Amino acid sequence: MTVKPRVVIVGSGIIGASVALACQDLGAEVVVLDQGPLGGVASRNSFGWINASFAETRAYFELRHAALAGFRFLDQRLGLGGHIRWQGTLWWEDAGADFTAQFNTLTQRGYPAKLVSQADIAALEPQLRHPPHQAILTATEGAAQAQNVALAILAEVARRGGSLQEHTSVKWVKQVAGRIASVHTQERDLACDAVVLATGAAAQTAVIGLDWALPMANKQGMILQTEPLDQMINHILMTPDVHFRQNPDGSFVAGEIFSGEIGPDVNAQDLAAEVVARIQTKLHDIPKLRLAEVKIGMRPVPLDGLPVVGSVPGVQGAFAAVMHSGVTLGPLVGQLLASEILKGVQSSLLTPFCPARFS
Ligand SMILES: Cc1cc2nc3c(=O)[nH]c(=O)nc-3n(C[C@H](O)[C@H](O)[C@H](O)COP(=O)(O)OP(=O)(O)OC[C@H]3O[C@@H](n4cnc5c(N)ncnc54)[C@H](O)[C@@H]3O)c2cc1C
Repeated sequence: MTVKPRVVIVGSGIIGASVALACQDLGAEVVVLDQGPLGGVASRNSFGWINASFAETRAYFELRHAALAGFRFLDQRLGLGGHIRWQGTLWWEDAGADFTAQFNTLTQRGYPAKLVSQADIAALEPQLRHPPHQAILTATEGAAQAQNVALAILAEVARRGGSLQEHTSVKWVKQVAGRIASVHTQERDLACDAVVLATGAAAQTAVIGLDWALPMANKQGMILQTEPLDQMINHILMTPDVHFRQNPDGSFVAGEIFSGEIGPDVNAQDLAAEVVARIQTKLHDIPKLRLAEVKIGMRPVPLDGLPVVGSVPGVQGAFAAVMHSGVTLGPLVGQLLASEILKGVQSSLLTPFCPARFS
């Protein structure tokens, strides 16, 4: 009987869950450890837009674009319909030269983006009170409730014999002769062949025993959710003053404060109420929106803004998977990283994002 390699995954958000499932697919025994409840932290507080509309570099665009197909594949495999909609995006956040530049970037990259007129938008979104003069339609995009997706993936991992341990904090890892030998939790030592750090925003706290730390520039963001209504809008709507969409259950989700700190002078409830009012005035003939939840989240952002995925320098068997846009990227990154861990094959899609750039 062959002994399966054991991969310990630290973190049970959408990234850790995706890596675990993909490692299991390649024959590994997987153990997922989380210091909190299962399902992640950033994954719980995310807007969940699955997109390749914004990418600072060509390589990052290629990764994100491939990731859309990776997510659809996962959706078909696990039947995630209750947590995800592939409704496409209408974007008119910027106007003038910035709007044109965004459209040109997308089309030059070969992304399926289409310019739509005011009349088209009115037909696509009949509830919109003042359709803009034009918008960019990116019909292949979608949005997910990322924590629910992570939990669905973890349920599949558990069903196939994987071990999930919540409220289990990894304190340090042990190396023997330059190789990962075990992971130490508050309770015990767990022998393993590989460890994956999928610790999200907490990645800024170096894991003792790795001789490697990832500099992070995490950013706060606010997400609010309303009580459910019937389906009123058909797309993810990225407008100049609010980004919003509807979940499969009809609740509206909106984001605010996209790249910064929520200052002490900001009252989150007041701000959320203001955002809800912005949505309400954009749509006609809809019942009153009622705020159900306000969440302040921390976006996991490596210092240069790009994903960090691959083997950690200096120690064999240690891997990192830390990134913003992890909802978009999770399922694909899980597959690519599993292949690197268990087959030693590094995808060219991941080459620009290797952890060694921070050594
Ligand atoms: C406001 C906001 C809006 C966002 N919008 C989008 C969006 O529209 N589209 C998109 O693609 N992405 C978006 N993101 C980013 C996305 O949510 C994250 O990139 C993704 O959820 C990261 O998943 P993760 O599994 O790496 O992290 P998490 O979900 O945070 O999971 C990490 C887990 O690691 C655990 N952990 C940490 N340290 C330890 C330890 N020592 N021992 C054990 N467990 C540990 C934590 O408890 C946590 O559960 C947004 C994020 C925020 C906050």
